[in-house]
Amino acid sequence: MPVLVMKFGGTSVANPDRIRRAAKRVGVEVAKGYDVIVIVSAMSGKTNELVGWVNETSPLYDAREYDAVVSSGENVTAGLMALTLQEMDIPARSWQGWQVPVKTTTAHSAARIEDIPPENIMAKFAQGMRVAVVAGFQGISPEGRITTLGRGGSDTTAVAFAAAMGAERCDIYTDVDGVYTTDPRISSKARKLDRIAFEEMLELASLGAKVLQTRSVELAMRYNVRLRVLSSFEEQSDDAGTLVCAEEEIMESNVVTGIAYSRDEAKMTLLSVADRPGIAAAIFGPLSDAGVNVDMIIQNISEDGQTDMTFSCPTDQVMRAEKAMKDAVAAGQIEYGDLMADTDVAKVSAVGIGMRSQSGVAAQMFKTLSDEGINIKVISTSEIKISVLIDRKYMELAVQALHDAFQLDKAG
Ligand code: ASP
Ligand code: MG
Repeated sequence: MPVLVMKFGGTSVANPDRIRRAAKRVGVEVAKGYDVIVIVSAMSGKTNELVGWVNETSPLYDAREYDAVVSSGENVTAGLMALTLQEMDIPARSWQGWQVPVKTTTAHSAARIEDIPPENIMAKFAQGMRVAVVAGFQGISPEGRITTLGRGGSDTTAVAFAAAMGAERCDIYTDVDGVYTTDPRISSKARKLDRIAFEEMLELASLGAKVLQTRSVELAMRYNVRLRVLSSFEEQSDDAGTLVCAEEEIMESNVVTGIAYSRDEAKMTLLSVADRPGIAAAIFGPLSDAGVNVDMIIQNISEDGQTDMTFSCPTDQVMRAEKAMKDAVAAGQIEYGDLMADTDVAKVSAVGIGMRSQSGVAAQMFKTLSDEGINIKVISTSEIKISVLIDRKYMELAVQALHDAFQLDKAG
């Protein structure tokens, strides 16, 4: 029988009543003839509570025990979901990650899935089981310890199972009814997309649209898993939600598909660094070693052999970046005049695969921002994305203006 993966996020399994509603959706697919793998998140708020308990108990915690604690929320919902399905006379059982087993790396709290042998679950399907309920977000390391996949990791569990089991589709049930052209809380004109290409979704996910864990989209793209994002709170038709799929499956689209933003950006500038070969490596090597996620980089023109180097990173990594730079000075690797941190900035980006073949998008973006009197501090581009760093107070305005300028309220 064909296999379908259905993933339910925290709000969709927030209490026994919601679990029952989700189980009814599963029942619909079972009735259509699918063997279903259900991936569950913890009840909404649960993982945060568990993380809080760990921090309260041991601020500099052992990451292996952190994983032992925070993975437990999913164990509860997996068991409850299996019980609910059994009450509906659907043959089902729960699986914790290690039982499958979901084999991961040892990187506790940020482990990667390496392999999911399908045999155990497939054998149960062959014996008449119709639903395998799997606890998302968790796995087992080569050392036999419980691991977790990073916040939002159940999405990645779901896609990995879809790839491993050759599922027809991976449906991600959440509290929004799909992927939008931008955040509907910021622009009332935001429009739900019927389809979006993997590459675009990847950019939007990593740029701060929090619908899917970035890693899950990377996996879906690599294994060509058709991914559907849809609401567990609405009656569903077969074409509900947004399908994340290969570019070839998208017939028409706008040049720009979506406007994303990220509120928590910081702009750091190293003043008067020596402009010599190797200086970029000497700066960004230590930043990377310190775990700072550098995003945009600008090296200004140099004068008298000195230059200014600007980069952006998440706001909560500013202290780490400053320490890494001071340590590099102490180690004699670099010298600079001053280090300035501007933490009142935000990043706004336009994303669309149409940019590959159409020019003028950047010009239109800059003109739109200038018409609103918004100053651009840093610019970066990729083949399908243009990002700008601006003062945070203009973020909403910029998103709305760009959404209007690229006419994203209208389908392409
Ligand atoms: N429960 C985990 C979290 O809140 C994993 C997930 O829900 O995807 O991050
Ligand atoms: Mg999530």
